[in-house]
Amino acid sequence: MDLQSFVFDGSRRFDPKKFDPAYTGDYGSKEEASQKMLANLKRLTELQDRLYAENKEALLIIFQAMDAAGKDGTIKHVMSGMNPQGIDVWNFKQPSAEELDHDYLWRCAKRLPERGKICIFNRSYYEDVLVGRVHELYKNQNLPQRCLYDNLIKRRCRQIRDFEKYLWENGIRVVKFYLNISKEEQKKRFLSRIDNPAKNWKFSEADIRERAHWDEYQKAYRDAINATAAPEAPWIVVPADKKWFARLVVSQYLVQTLEAIDPQYPVLPAGTQKMLAECRAKLTGEAPAAPRTEAADLPPEGASSKPAEKPADS
Ligand code: ATP
Ligand code: MG
Repeated sequence: MDLQSFVFDGSRRFDPKKFDPAYTGDYGSKEEASQKMLANLKRLTELQDRLYAENKEALLIIFQAMDAAGKDGTIKHVMSGMNPQGIDVWNFKQPSAEELDHDYLWRCAKRLPERGKICIFNRSYYEDVLVGRVHELYKNQNLPQRCLYDNLIKRRCRQIRDFEKYLWENGIRVVKFYLNISKEEQKKRFLSRIDNPAKNWKFSEADIRERAHWDEYQKAYRDAINATAAPEAPWIVVPADKKWFARLVVSQYLVQTLEAIDPQYPVLPAGTQKMLAECRAKLTGEAPAAPRTEAADLPPEGASSKPAEKPADS
């Protein structure tokens, strides 16, 4: 599958009206896509192992979306084959009082991945140009008057672009997925969260309040994507009405990204190779271990089974 039509790197504009959230390409069903999905997960496992071993590049994966678009499920599925030691997932919800006392990038900057690691941001600093824009949250964040520019959101987008360029120039690749769900599909998923007791916990009254701002959010996403799409930090607009298709696109784009990084297992220096050969010879030259007997496991006759007492003034 060619993913180019989903990728926005600043060379063309994203217009949500021209984008079908229910698109599934050449795939008619989840079953048809399952082989490709499995192959992607297997490849991701191999590539992550190399990335971790090479310990050079880091990968930051950002997920943004309207409520119920499937961020959590996508993260769970796509990362299922990866080594948890090499991955960190961070959720960014409403900022705490401590977080609000800092600049808006602070809480995310603290969580950036170290070399060799993959880090997932489930929501991110983009919230500050999305929900922050829709509800003009910056007005109540105790910013000095001189920082409340008329074009504050545009400035923040420029700051984010600069920040992501800084990351690129310092060994952190950034890929940003926007799971693009339709208003109709969101309604279906909310109803299912309400009707199914096992899903009740996922629903919040706030979801309905935010849904009322649907059009404003669509504009906010469009503008944020267009203002921050760059070759070194592309947006991938993922058709998300069909969860299985969204997961397929995300897994495939991640394979593509890691293949572009092309991480290699470190080759040990010549001296180390010699040391390995010597250690190998020692191990293979060892006399075979004597077979264990039950008697060998027992304490000698007359020996106390209690631990020896500690000397008083040791
Ligand atoms: P789901 O898609 O399942 O609803 P979620 O990511 O929306 O999951 P929730 O706990 O429902 O998780 O909501 C997190 C909320 O935190 C979102 O409404 C989001 O807009 C809000 N949030 C995140 N960052 C900020 C921010 N910087 N300022 C204000 N609100 C924020
Ligand atoms: Mg939510």
